[in-house]
Amino acid sequence: MRVNVSSHDLKVLDHKHHLHPFTDHGALGVDERRVITRADGVWLWDSDGNRLLDGMAGLWCVNVGHGRQEIGEAVRAQMSELSYYNTFFKTTHPPVIELSEMIADLAPDHMNMVFYGGSGSDANDTIFRLVRYYWDLMGKPEKKTIIARKNAYHGSTVAGASLGGMGGMHEQGDLPISGIHHIAQPYWFGEGMQSGMSEDEFGIWAARELARAIDEIGEDKIGAFIAEPIQGAGGVIIPPTTYWPEVSRILEERDILFVSDEVICGFGRTGEWFGADTYGTKPDLMAIAKGMTSGYLPMGGVIVSDRVADVLHEKGGEFYHGYTYSGHPAACAAAIANLTIMKREKLVDSVRDQIGPYFRERWLGLGDHPMVGEARMKGLVGALELIPDKKDLMKRFGDVGKVGTIARDHSFANGLVMRAVRDSLIISPPLTITEEETDELIARAHKTLDDAWSTVRKHGLA
Ligand code: PMP
Repeated sequence: MRVNVSSHDLKVLDHKHHLHPFTDHGALGVDERRVITRADGVWLWDSDGNRLLDGMAGLWCVNVGHGRQEIGEAVRAQMSELSYYNTFFKTTHPPVIELSEMIADLAPDHMNMVFYGGSGSDANDTIFRLVRYYWDLMGKPEKKTIIARKNAYHGSTVAGASLGGMGGMHEQGDLPISGIHHIAQPYWFGEGMQSGMSEDEFGIWAARELARAIDEIGEDKIGAFIAEPIQGAGGVIIPPTTYWPEVSRILEERDILFVSDEVICGFGRTGEWFGADTYGTKPDLMAIAKGMTSGYLPMGGVIVSDRVADVLHEKGGEFYHGYTYSGHPAACAAAIANLTIMKREKLVDSVRDQIGPYFRERWLGLGDHPMVGEARMKGLVGALELIPDKKDLMKRFGDVGKVGTIARDHSFANGLVMRAVRDSLIISPPLTITEEETDELIARAHKTLDDAWSTVRKHGLA
């Protein structure tokens, strides 16, 4: 990287030549962008000399924290031994073999094989094709439709965005593609409490939307149901406790595949290795990425159950699908080093038994703030629902998203990275965050709420 380039010059160059993901380029001012230059543990530094607490672990991915030299060293060693070779045409290599064994060991007992890609989006593309291929091999090619949920996020590729239930994404380019049906999400604060049902009743109702959809379309036409254990990008939607048991019951009675999108929940985020472990579901396929390498190198994949793998083995035939970088050796080395750290430091146990409960108690304490309608957290992923009047939990801000953005901007100004989804703030810190850092994060979040609340009142938004 060039040295001695001023912060402003970096921003000018970025403005000229870099198209950012999920960005309104017309609205992004040159100096508004933030140039992150360094990171260590839960801390980030930018080119203007600010130090920020990374409450989002990058993009929900840096589970072991930033700056782990051990991962870099493992990648460097792998690069000098074998930097690249493919896994097509009857070939394989030691790091992909070692990583696959490691993941099979961590995954639920009935899941023992891994297919690799480079991201969560392409993992879901693989799943889209694999579900259909599986049913073709089973002699039921008409089982093509995949049921997904509104406000789900499954990636940005054509299949990923189609499986996802984001209206804004669908509007851009005639999505979803055919063969996908979206049902209601189990979003208690946003949609449930308005229905007159209790939270538990609403969980059952939302689960039964799956049964209703299957019965309406016909079980003989449905290939799979895909869902995130906790919807992440949709706003950290933690389902009512009744939801997953009822979904599991419905799936047990019907012959369709269940796909758990573990791109965020996988690798410890919810206090178990996978969200499926936390909620007791039995996936046939799991999409993985993010925490798999803690983002040190790009990697994603699909963990495949024995049910599906056995059919691929026994009925044979070539599945015409794969990526140049499937099982990239350097990414495998990063994943192995990352998972080794997670196991050695017992990070998943800590999320379940130590730092998770500590963080949660403090986070739920933010629920007392006059602007917070609900504070929720599971493992180390949470949200604050911002509302204009605490005496009326049903009331929402007029211009959806405006107050969320105000609060998010205050959060950055207070040196804390939180993300806004509609009018909520979400958090997903590195799993390595300490109690002291948690206290610091909560103090900054509290100040953020105070600042946002005074801005909101000053502008008459509440
Ligand atoms: N699935 C889920 C649940 C995700 O949260 C994401 C990314 N946030 C994806 C898929 C897509 O992953 P990627 O951005 O690596 O393509």
